[in-house]
Amino acid sequence: MALLCVPLVGASVDQMLQDRDKAKEGGADLVEFRVDYLKSFQPRQDLGVLLRDKKLPAIVTYRPKWDGGYAEVDDQTRLDALRAAIELGADYVDVEFKVAEDFIKSISGKKSEKQKVIVSSHNFEHTPPVEELTDIAAKVQATGADIVKVVTAAKDITDVSRLFRVLAHCQVPIIGLATGDRGVISRVLPSKFGGYLTYAALAAGKESADGQPTLKDMLNVYNFRQVGRETQIFGIIGKPVYHSKGPVLYNKAFSSVGLDAVYVHYLVDDLPHFVDVYSTPDFAGFSCTIPHKEIMCECCDEVDPVAKSIGAVNAIIRRNGKLYGYNTDYIGAISAIEDALRAANIQGNVPGGSPLAGKLFLVMGAGGAGKSLAYGAKQKGARIVVANRTYERAKQLAEAVGGQVIPLSELENFHPEDGMILANTTPVGMTPKTGVSLMPKHCMKRFTLVFDAIYTPIDTKLLVDAKDSGCIAVSGVEMFLRQAKGQYELYTDGAPAPVEVMREAVLSKK
Ligand code: NAP
Repeated sequence: MALLCVPLVGASVDQMLQDRDKAKEGGADLVEFRVDYLKSFQPRQDLGVLLRDKKLPAIVTYRPKWDGGYAEVDDQTRLDALRAAIELGADYVDVEFKVAEDFIKSISGKKSEKQKVIVSSHNFEHTPPVEELTDIAAKVQATGADIVKVVTAAKDITDVSRLFRVLAHCQVPIIGLATGDRGVISRVLPSKFGGYLTYAALAAGKESADGQPTLKDMLNVYNFRQVGRETQIFGIIGKPVYHSKGPVLYNKAFSSVGLDAVYVHYLVDDLPHFVDVYSTPDFAGFSCTIPHKEIMCECCDEVDPVAKSIGAVNAIIRRNGKLYGYNTDYIGAISAIEDALRAANIQGNVPGGSPLAGKLFLVMGAGGAGKSLAYGAKQKGARIVVANRTYERAKQLAEAVGGQVIPLSELENFHPEDGMILANTTPVGMTPKTGVSLMPKHCMKRFTLVFDAIYTPIDTKLLVDAKDSGCIAVSGVEMFLRQAKGQYELYTDGAPAPVEVMREAVLSKK
C-alpha cells in the first residue's frame, strides 16, 4: 500500500510545525518539509527544530529553482543542508537527479539503514514514451537511489498509463506522478500500480504541485486506504469532470458493502484514445458525462438497444474484454419526474398510465441528457418540444421523437398552453457559472413541473425561480441518484445498491 505524504509549504518553521500536526490529525503517513518554501532558512538551526519531536516520519526537500523549487542558493549550500538533515535524523531526503550521484557518495556510511534517499527526476514539459521513462528510472536508480522518483507533466490523461507501466516494472521502490489536472489518477491510484508514495495537500491552496488533491479528498473522496493491487477501478469520464460527485457516491457505496473497488474522475479530451489505452480488465467500468455520451456509443463493442435509440451511453461495463454500453439516465430522470407528479396527485390523460401521458414536455438541450429526457418522456406518452443552442441538433432530436422544435430565442414566447413540463438538460446554471438560467422567471407559471438535470448546485437559479413561482421543482440530484443506482447494479452484476448511503453521500457537502 502506498504511503500518503503531506508536503509542508509554510513560510516559517512555526507554520510548518503547525501544519505537520494537522497533517497527522488528518491521517497522513508522513510529511515533507519543503524547506525551499521558508522565507528565511538557517539549515542547522531550523532543521534541528523541524526534526526534533518527530510526530510523523519526515522527508526533507530543498528544491532549487532550476528544478522547479524556490531555493536560490548554490547547490553546495543546499546539499550541505540535506547532509545536516540526515545527521539530524530525517527519515528521507529528496535530492535532484542531476546532483544525486555525488551527493549519495558524500553520505556513504553516514546514514542509517532506515534513512532513505529519494532521487527525483522532473519533466515539466510532457510525459515521454514508456521506453524513455524506463530509461530515466534506470538512470535514477543507478545513482544509488533508495527510492526512484519520476515526475512528468500530463498533457493528456493517457500519459499516466505510461507511468503506471513504469511503476509496475521498477525493481526498487518508485514514486511516479504526473502533474496537472489530467494527471490526478497518478496521484490517487499508486497503491494499485505499485507506487511507493503519493503527495496530498494539507488543504486547497497548500499544494506543492499542480493537480495534487487534498488529504481529505484522498481519504474521503478517493478511498485511498482501500485501494490495493486487486482493486477494480471505475470512474467517470467527462470534460469538465471534477464537479462530479460520482467518486464520493460510489466510493461510499463500495466501502459500505466491502467491495474491493474504487471510483475516480477521468478528465478526458480524446475519448476513443482513452478507451483504447485504458483497456485492461483493471479498468472495469465507466460512467460517462459531458461531452462524451454520444461518441461513447461508437466506442463500445455493444450498445443496449434503448441506449442505441437514444444515441447516448452513460454507463459502460467491461465483460470478457468487451465494452457494453447502457443508458441509465433516462430511467433516472423520468422516474423522478413521474414520482413528483404522482406525489402532487397530478394525472396524465391515460387512466392508470404515466402522469406524463399527454403532457407537453419542453426539453432545453439536445445532448446526451436531452436525448434521454426526450426519448423517456416520449415513451411515457408526452408530446415533445426541443429547444437547443444548435438548432440543427434540436431539429434532429425532435424528428427522432416525433416532436416539435423551437429556437432557444423563442423560449420566452413559447406558451401554447398551461400545465407544461420544463426540463433543462444544458449546463447553463451549473457550478461555477451559477445564477443564470435559459428560461426567464416570469415564464415559470406556464409550467406545472420544472426539472433541472444539473446537480451542482442543487438549487440552480432555474429551480429557485420555479419554486418561487409555485411549480413543482425536481432536482438533478434525484436523477443522479436514480441513474447511479442503475449503474451500480450494472457494475456489481445486479447487487442491490445501498441507496441511502448514496443519497447521504450526494447531499453531503463534499
Ligand atoms: P452534452 O451531451 O454535452 O449536451 C449539452 C447540451 O447543452 C447541448 O445540447 C448543448 O448545446 C447545450 N449547451 C451547452 N452549453 C450551452 C450554453 N452555454 N447555452 C445553451 N446551451 C448550451 O451534455 P450532457 O451529458 O447532456 O449534460 C448536460 C447537463 O446535464 C450537464 O450539466 C450535466 O452535468 C447534466 N447531467 C446531469 C445528470 C444527472 O444525473 N443529474 C446526468 C446527465 C447529465 P449544443 O448542441 O449547441 O452544443
